[in-house]
Amino acid sequence: MKSYEQLFINGRWIAPVKGGTFETVDPSNERVIANVAAATAEDIDLAVKAAREAFDGGPWPKMRGAERGAILRRIAKGIRDRLPELAEIEVRDNGKPLPEALWDLGDAAGCFEFYAGLADKLDDAAEQPVTLSDDRFSSVARKEPVGVAGAIIPWNFPMLMAAWKVAPALAAGCTMVLKPSELTPLTALELADIALKAELPPGVLNIVTGLGLDAGAPLSEHPGIDKLAFTGSVPTGSRIMQAAARDIKNVSLELGGKSPFIVFDDSDLEAAVEWIMFGIFWNQGEVCSATSRVLVQRGLYEPLLERLAQEARKLTIGSGLEEGVLLGPLVSRGQYDKVREAIARGQQEGARLVTGGNRPTGLEKGYFLAPAVFADVPEDSWIWQEEIFGPVVCIRPFDDEAEALRSANDSRFGLAAAVMSRDLERCERVARALRAGIVWINCSQPTFTEAPWGGYKQSGIGRELGEWGLNNYLETKQITRYDSDRPWGWYIK
Ligand code: NAD
Repeated sequence: MKSYEQLFINGRWIAPVKGGTFETVDPSNERVIANVAAATAEDIDLAVKAAREAFDGGPWPKMRGAERGAILRRIAKGIRDRLPELAEIEVRDNGKPLPEALWDLGDAAGCFEFYAGLADKLDDAAEQPVTLSDDRFSSVARKEPVGVAGAIIPWNFPMLMAAWKVAPALAAGCTMVLKPSELTPLTALELADIALKAELPPGVLNIVTGLGLDAGAPLSEHPGIDKLAFTGSVPTGSRIMQAAARDIKNVSLELGGKSPFIVFDDSDLEAAVEWIMFGIFWNQGEVCSATSRVLVQRGLYEPLLERLAQEARKLTIGSGLEEGVLLGPLVSRGQYDKVREAIARGQQEGARLVTGGNRPTGLEKGYFLAPAVFADVPEDSWIWQEEIFGPVVCIRPFDDEAEALRSANDSRFGLAAAVMSRDLERCERVARALRAGIVWINCSQPTFTEAPWGGYKQSGIGRELGEWGLNNYLETKQITRYDSDRPWGWYIK
């Protein structure tokens, strides 16, 4: 493996000021795969200063959007040209099955291409006339980049989460400092190489690896940052918001979820099983929008549980690099222990463990877990209410639409939700009554760069993706002109 012991600051690779490193581990065999540069407050300061100079004095924010778009397209091409290699690095660092990593990397490239398209259009859309009630004045509303962005991301979709922040921020004309998760830092460092080759001007994108407290906290607190964009857990999100509050930084948060999936009993059984599985076992269930609370109408409840358990037992578990594997290891020892504790807690709370939840036989090393199906989960239990972030689905029966909606909305989270029925009118009605930022009808999880992404309630603030994602990194300025020949005449008559 190549060396990852340097940080990418001001267009150059440099060693951390204090020279520290941390280890990143392959979760399928628990072996260290790389020593990675551990940034501290001193390095964050250098990175923010580089981004500040690139914003305040550099060409990036003043360039035409189309010119920025051309560079974003070169970054997308840089990802596509190295797709298999980057996907393999992602699997070794995160554990996910290779086809899913290839999918993520393709989506990351697509995200850069999409925002390149919006950057092109920004030139014309940047200024819009505003009709005023007083015709002595004329006015335009103008979109401008918000400034220097600090982006902090989690480990579940390492390159894709980087793309969701870097692509719109750069398209808008911001400069930035990106801090990837210490559990999966490698593809972000590869992105730095790709940006360098794409001739992104120095200081526009700085990538600093490091621990949450040592690197993330100083980034969130740095006075040189104008905008904080965070994806991760609710407790860290709350800390980021407190840091932002001190000097009124613009902040957007994409946090956790405990997303419900309502299945009415007129649904096709096989389709329901397929989408429930995709909703919770894809990416080992380490998905913020995972439909982890499933409500099944009583007429379909027992047959669905039986078919779901049959299919869950059939899932091929193993290293993400092995052919045919559908469920890889969890990302880390810490996450593995957390998920196993949640399963034990569920059993103590009286939920019925129908299948899984144990280490699969023959996989003694690595953070492997047989996918778990819990039935009859009490509504007030910890496992029904809290995010587990693993391949664990909680299921309960319901009798009618009103009960399903009440139960689905009874959560402090509101990221995503799903509903399934052959009655499309009912689906549309339920979709509108669900308190969540993303609602899927007759499916769960498909995510599109063009559509808004983000949560209600404690699942976050603001929206990523689509034009909403670009607006995250734009300020709106009004420019108003006095056009009349007549004097204003307030003081001087
Ligand atoms: P986390 O909050 O532990 O860490 C996220 C990032 O924050 C990491 O880069 C970490 O180093 C950094 N960090 C940790 N402490 C910090 C601090 N005090 N100050 C600044 N930065 C700090 O979350 P995680 O375990 O990496 O990710 C899992 C969580 O992310 C889940 O709750 C999941 O739901 C959420 N998530 C949400 C979305 C979404 O779009 N809503 C997407 C992916 C993941």
